[in-house]
Amino acid sequence: MSPEFLLITHQIAPQAGQSEQVILGIGDDAALLPHNDQYEQVVAMDTLVAGRHFLHEQAAFDVGWKSLAVNLSDLASMGSVPQFALLSLSLPPDLERKAWVTGFMQGWQALADTTGIVLVGGDTTSSPVLSITVTVIGKRPAASRRMLRQSACMGDDLWVSGSIGSAGLALTLQTAGQHIPDSLAQALHRPIPRLALGQALLPWVNAAMDISDGLLADLSHLLRASGDLGATLDWHSIPMQADVRDWAEKVPYLPLTSGDDYELLFTAPVCMRDQIQTCAVASNTPVTRIGQITAQQPIQVMKDAEAIPLPSQLGFDHFTSHKHHKILA
Ligand code: ADP
Ligand code: MG
Repeated sequence: MSPEFLLITHQIAPQAGQSEQVILGIGDDAALLPHNDQYEQVVAMDTLVAGRHFLHEQAAFDVGWKSLAVNLSDLASMGSVPQFALLSLSLPPDLERKAWVTGFMQGWQALADTTGIVLVGGDTTSSPVLSITVTVIGKRPAASRRMLRQSACMGDDLWVSGSIGSAGLALTLQTAGQHIPDSLAQALHRPIPRLALGQALLPWVNAAMDISDGLLADLSHLLRASGDLGATLDWHSIPMQADVRDWAEKVPYLPLTSGDDYELLFTAPVCMRDQIQTCAVASNTPVTRIGQITAQQPIQVMKDAEAIPLPSQLGFDHFTSHKHHKILA
């Protein structure tokens, strides 16, 4: 388990208290709370820190868009409809405050307008470091199946939406000062939360989560939550843009560990393949079957009949000192 998850599991979760008011607490992409007979409430929070989640010089518009997008992605992974948001801005003294906040809010609103989410509160403070924390609240039909991390089953198909590794390659190019093709830049700076797909999938899937820390890292979280299951993936089936496939030529696991994808990772019984393809068409979101859930660990990624070597750390962790996709300050 990564140091970040050890902290959450051993130091935070045991102190969190219990209540019959909580349907699902710490451990998934969002909490589920009772609301009324028709709906459950879905609540999630994510923080972005300058120099860690985005470069200091990143356009304020992009930071605004992404701050909302990464949160909406957690709502998407629970199949929920976004309703309300709270925004906390901690602004350093050297920032061109007025212009920055204007640009930030334009980016925020450009995405908010496409989803119907309404900003209803927040907090604004000064701070040595630019940091943004967002809370999102959504709803999901109480009568539908729940798409949780813990409900994958042996033999399930493993699926992902969109394509993998584009943001990772974009960041690699950006930090090297190289030109970033538009399609890669969009993946890094303006990810599109898969809300329509998440809502459509609700009746058909067993388990789901969004990919923020890297395909393999997040898959390992899902497998652990589901009782230490394993998975076998087919490298060639994993959807990647052509540039990303070239990038992975020498080190095939790079796109699978680089993170910031904000795609949905989900598992479903084999008999649901047609329904899932229908959801993809209805939500205008590509989905790809990339492997199968197996009875036990490990994760294996097969390429040309051989398992590719995987690093000991499968993705980003905030408390492991290493050079990885998220920008180290
Ligand atoms: P995600 O990547 O989907 O945002 P995280 O990996 O950040 O999820 O968090 C895993 C789980 O731990 C989530 O349920 C989250 O709400 C919970 N969590 C993380 N940090 C804290 C904290 N400081 N206090 C309470 N719960 C936390
Ligand atoms: Mg998540």
